[in-house]
Amino acid sequence: MAIVAFVGLGNMGGPMAANLVKAGYTVRAFDLSEAALETAQSQGCEVVSSAREAAAEADFIISMLPAGKHVKALYVDGDVPLFDVVQPGALIIDCSTIDADTARNVADIGEKRGISFVDAPVSGGVGGAQAGTLTFIVGGSDDQFAKAKPVLDAMGKNIFHAGDHGAGQVAKACNNMLLSVLMAGTCEAINMGVKNGLDPAVLSEIMKQSSGGNWALNVYNPYPGVMENAPASKGYQGGFQVDLMIKDLGLAMDVSQQSAAPVPMGSAARALFTLHKAGGNGKLDFSSLMQFYQDKKGE
Ligand code: NAD
Repeated sequence: MAIVAFVGLGNMGGPMAANLVKAGYTVRAFDLSEAALETAQSQGCEVVSSAREAAAEADFIISMLPAGKHVKALYVDGDVPLFDVVQPGALIIDCSTIDADTARNVADIGEKRGISFVDAPVSGGVGGAQAGTLTFIVGGSDDQFAKAKPVLDAMGKNIFHAGDHGAGQVAKACNNMLLSVLMAGTCEAINMGVKNGLDPAVLSEIMKQSSGGNWALNVYNPYPGVMENAPASKGYQGGFQVDLMIKDLGLAMDVSQQSAAPVPMGSAARALFTLHKAGGNGKLDFSSLMQFYQDKKGE
């Protein structure tokens, strides 16, 4: 079975690496955090002392890092760029959510040196990473996609080929911008109904079965108590943090600016989530925007 180097074993990368081990891959894992390394070792990864050591003999190199600057430093312009050590024929799969420009730039630099790099951001959150049900949105050539797919299958359920390099990041930005708009609209409508005496559960069911039906109403109701397992019913803990949504909306605004695509709804949603964060709610699940409408300060 192939050797996979895995760099970035945080909330997402840790469980993703564990699923590769379960699927039979040899996983050479590296993270800057000792605690993350200990967990990875307990889950069957071979822990190594540098990204370079992880990548040297790997057939696949997967990264799951916070932002574009970390990805560029890891592969291209850090102290020990992995582009200097990857073996011929290896495929690099960057699963981090980063700006499309950096993804394209790193892929271009790799291509000039005969190194294969694809962007493959994910949707599905920590729960999806743990369950191995992530959606991967890949940007790269047909051949690169075909080569990446079996590895991604071990960590996900839906594997999409969005287009050429950077297309994965653009598609992810489109999706998360739409999600933010849907969530904001859903909070707004439920709050208006409740202020007018409606039961939030009854109103939610009406809208779910009507033309306002959407993903937030179906599986992620933002009003506490309407949906037992939604973050709203657990004090907005777990789920997808406001901070991460704001990061993704920033990436969406970059895409919009570079392509002159108008995004007034996305801009409004970004402003709402930023105001909500300013109220001290950055670490709460993004459906806590409900509290912004209710004018509750981080209760
Ligand atoms: P995280 O902060 O939990 O993990 C990032 C890890 O990268 C940390 O363990 C950190 O120590 C490590 N790291 C940073 N620089 C490194 C380097 N140079 N070498 C080795 N390790 C390094 O973040 P996360 O929640 O796992 O998110 C990772 C990526 O996935 C982000 O781009 C995020 O936007 C994206 N994402 C997150 C979610 C989510 O729900 N958490 C969902 C979809 C996508």
